[in-house]
Amino acid sequence: MVKRALITGITGQDGSYLAEHLLERGYTVFGMTRRESWFRHHNASHLAGRIEVLFGDMTEGVDIAAAVQDARPDEIYNLASQSRPGESWARAPETLLINGLAAIRLFEAVRHACPAARVYHASSSEMFGLAEQVPQNERTPFNPQNPYAAAKVYAHQMARIYRESYGLFIATGILFNHESERRPLHFVTQKIACGAACAALGIVESPDLNERGRPLVEHGKLALGNLSVARDWGHARDFVRAMWLILQQPRAEDFVVGTGVVHTLADLCRVAYAHVGCDWHAHVVSDPALVRPLETGRTVADPRRAREQLGWVPAIDFETMVRGMVDAQVARLRSAPATHPD
Ligand code: NAP
Repeated sequence: MVKRALITGITGQDGSYLAEHLLERGYTVFGMTRRESWFRHHNASHLAGRIEVLFGDMTEGVDIAAAVQDARPDEIYNLASQSRPGESWARAPETLLINGLAAIRLFEAVRHACPAARVYHASSSEMFGLAEQVPQNERTPFNPQNPYAAAKVYAHQMARIYRESYGLFIATGILFNHESERRPLHFVTQKIACGAACAALGIVESPDLNERGRPLVEHGKLALGNLSVARDWGHARDFVRAMWLILQQPRAEDFVVGTGVVHTLADLCRVAYAHVGCDWHAHVVSDPALVRPLETGRTVADPRRAREQLGWVPAIDFETMVRGMVDAQVARLRSAPATHPD
């Protein structure tokens, strides 16, 4: 029997890779998106005609219920999110609505319309915040440091409560950072890839603008926040495979998914600029205005459960991922018009 999957956040980085992963396995894929988003270019544009598109806004309970009823899914992947932790300070109520309340509405819709469906909910390593233990596993207490992470903790706890109270199959992935050439330009990793591409092409004023409406690269320099920020970075293509594996398990559980290897932003700059034959020190400056009000601590995954139970190991390493992102930015800048991060 052909399996049916509903993905919220289909236009996002993970939604688009996950849709490809499921289509390759013969699934019928339903993707939920805001109407205005679908009709602009996005990560899932190439999937038009291969997936069923359901229009709806995750801030509207009726839209969520309708999507679940229309798709009649065997599997649901709840990926829609206001996914920028830094931005969540300026958009705290909206972040709670999309990252917190929408998840509960989805669980309610599942409970009433298709209680046999398996649900994957996208939790985040940001929930660990200033973590009490390093590395972090499924038992590490949460200590969120921004509105994004606090909303994610709420939805994560409700996933467990619905699972235990109603016997629903609601599993979560506590995913560490994952990147790709499909990452939006407002994420720091993609800014660095873009900065390196500008250096490669001799662009001193980038056509792309940052959040303050200034060229991302200005006078030949890319401005970043705290360069000693360290993260566990993997490739999105590997991480969507983990999402799918999580829903193929006999029991719904929480899984920490990460590479277990930590790098700093300075490391990322080094690899990106070296790939185009440049020294990053000559092209990157640190701007205190870009430092987050509250930084998270040292977050790095202990992915033992994912490795042992799911058989999941990442296939794409850090250097390959960064070089791929730089190459994609070089190709884009050579051929495409500028984008604004918003
Ligand atoms: P992303 O690229 O930012 O995609 C987010 C998606 O959510 C987009 O498709 C966006 O659609 C959609 N969305 C936002 N607000 C919506 C609304 N009101 N109604 C309907 N759709 C809405 O994020 P991602 O990197 O793919 O991440 C997927 C999930 O994993 C998110 O929940 C994220 O928080 C979580 N996560 C990501 C990472 C990571 O490193 N990437 C790590 C841990 C957890 P539009 O096109 O309409 O904006």
